Amino acid sequence: MTEKRALELVAKAIQQQEALGLGGIRLSYDLINSITPPQPRRMAAKAENLEEFCNEIKDCKKCRLHQGRNKFVFGVGNPNAKVMFVGEGPGRDEDLKGEPFVGRAGQLLDKILAAIQFDRTQVYIANVVKCRPPNNRDPQPDEMAECMPYLKQQIELINPQYICCLGRIAAQALLNTQTPLGKLRLRWHEFEGRKLMVTYHPAALLRFPEYKRDTWEDVQMLRREYDAYMAK
Ligand code: SF4
Repeated sequence: MTEKRALELVAKAIQQQEALGLGGIRLSYDLINSITPPQPRRMAAKAENLEEFCNEIKDCKKCRLHQGRNKFVFGVGNPNAKVMFVGEGPGRDEDLKGEPFVGRAGQLLDKILAAIQFDRTQVYIANVVKCRPPNNRDPQPDEMAECMPYLKQQIELINPQYICCLGRIAAQALLNTQTPLGKLRLRWHEFEGRKLMVTYHPAALLRFPEYKRDTWEDVQMLRREYDAYMAK
């Protein structure tokens, strides 16, 4: 409501109440609220940058995965990246180093990035869960549900244009689907207003090198889209 309209309604209410011979001025709650809308409840302060956010959550014990962690694995890369890669969770090497995608799978990811003219300083890399699942098992749905708000806040802080899910677990978690990876590839999905695509996890490519050709197709799609966005 405009200020002018609010004043008109106040004046009208005064006239009506005077005409009715009522003492004082009584305004309806609706009118009062329309002039002074109720204030939203104060929210807890949110971290303003990745470093602050990492410090805030690095000692998290929200799920059982904290019990076996050596290091909390927050994420790495450019805090203003336009492209963000998301895997499922840290493995043994990542847990020891505190960094996602190190070891053989990490080296392969570096090669995939290089194939589309990216390196780790240009993109951001993180996982759905920040602590290593025991024996490299898949993260459980309840563990992912506990950790997902952290990933969402990371995404909000980085504000990437594109998200590339590495592997079925990350893809299904972010897209909230049971659709197999093969049917999620080679098309764009939407995740909270951002474009999201899916490809194979580098660790899977180490076991099944025959999927490298498909991965190449996927990341080419990402590069084409990124180039088109940057050319705008
Ligand atoms: S996996 Fe996520 S939710 Fe679970 S303890 Fe680690 S940081 Fe917390």
